[in-house]
Amino acid sequence: MVKTEIKETLIDLDKKHFIHPTSSLKQQQETGAPFIFTEGKGVYLTDISGKKVLEGMASLWNVNVGYGRKELAEAAREQMEKLAFTNSFSSMGNEPAIRLAAKLAELTPGDLNAVFFTSSGSESNDTAYKLARYYWKIQGSPEKTKIISRKKGYHGVNIGATSATGITPFQEMTSSLAPDFLHVDTFSTESLRKCIEIEGPDKIAAFIAEPVQGAGGVNIAPDGYFQEIRKICDENNILFIADEVITGFGRTGKMFACEHYGIVPDIMLLAKGITSGYIPLGAVVVTDRIHKDLIKYSEGVLLHGYTYSGHATACAVALKNIEIIEKESLIENSRLMGKELLDGFYKIQKEIDIVGEVRTLGLIGAVEIINPVTNTRFPAHIAPKVSAEAAKRGLIIRTVVFEGMDTLVFSPPLVINQKEIEELLSILREALLAVQ
Ligand code: PLP
Repeated sequence: MVKTEIKETLIDLDKKHFIHPTSSLKQQQETGAPFIFTEGKGVYLTDISGKKVLEGMASLWNVNVGYGRKELAEAAREQMEKLAFTNSFSSMGNEPAIRLAAKLAELTPGDLNAVFFTSSGSESNDTAYKLARYYWKIQGSPEKTKIISRKKGYHGVNIGATSATGITPFQEMTSSLAPDFLHVDTFSTESLRKCIEIEGPDKIAAFIAEPVQGAGGVNIAPDGYFQEIRKICDENNILFIADEVITGFGRTGKMFACEHYGIVPDIMLLAKGITSGYIPLGAVVVTDRIHKDLIKYSEGVLLHGYTYSGHATACAVALKNIEIIEKESLIENSRLMGKELLDGFYKIQKEIDIVGEVRTLGLIGAVEIINPVTNTRFPAHIAPKVSAEAAKRGLIIRTVVFEGMDTLVFSPPLVINQKEIEELLSILREALLAVQ
């Protein structure tokens, strides 16, 4: 079959059989999948028609070491040939999972030293809520059950994770199932204090936040915010959970974004960049204090575990992925290229008047679209049009358009170089000019 026939067959099969996640199912039926990718190298993907695109999002904020890394394929192959998988229930184990737990203990700040493995960010979230509630129960405070999160926060799609998510259309799918989830204003410590006062600290298990909100529009905390959050949690005996599913593993120019604020959460959630997306894996890292208390007070069995908790092949890939991040100084590159990206955003902002606020932290960033006459958002969203124009020209970026936002978001692979940043900026500029 020639390529166009293969493409048509795939589009047809796709429409009939593949329910795409977080997608417009109607649009899929009408226009077919916009891209069916077949190959990736560095920051580029190639689709079935041979079109090459620059991945300005590292897929879903996660392909940190870039596409086509043979070392990761080799690590998976080697481990699969030796021992692809064995479960970790009843304290059984495997070498890559134990070594990865020790490596994460070394990398994460403070006394975050004990690791529970999952297979995704959503599973890491649900695990953390259950562990937090279990922790208080065995401490003799079973009524500490509520979880506070923030508006515009995104924590995934399992029932707990959806409930903690502060983006209304997502949240509505589980709200009746989850009366113990509360939401406060994104950057208002006063809103958190008030919520604790109303509910009572003796009813609250944990507060969860992303150090930089990703899916909510790349919202970067003002100075002092997270230090104050840490203080409020300590004063009220509430566990602080940092959801570093996007921000971990160099995305913001530090290994973990909490390091920007000099704070140590009680529980840190990881996924995505832990394997750069080469294989599913997530992790929940807890402090020595929590780990010791779980051991000390817990009776019987910890009744929480996934078949794939501590998957040997996934953990072997994660170890190799972290080795690449360290060896190739990708965290430093994230800082340097993030600065280039921001400088480029500022230049575009000066030239094109529908560009409002721009911001980055390392290689995560956002460009807001505004009506320059009124200085408010356009009633109809412009960002999706910019993204479509960018895709035509060979650049993938995402948009955030819920609750009145009109924002372009960026998160390229951490291996991106100066020339590729220039290409990204040049296509972005053209796409903005095309819709202006
Ligand atoms: N937490 C954050 C901050 C995320 O951005 C995401 C996904 O985008 C998740 C959790 C959920 O991760 P997953 O899609 O791997 O379940």
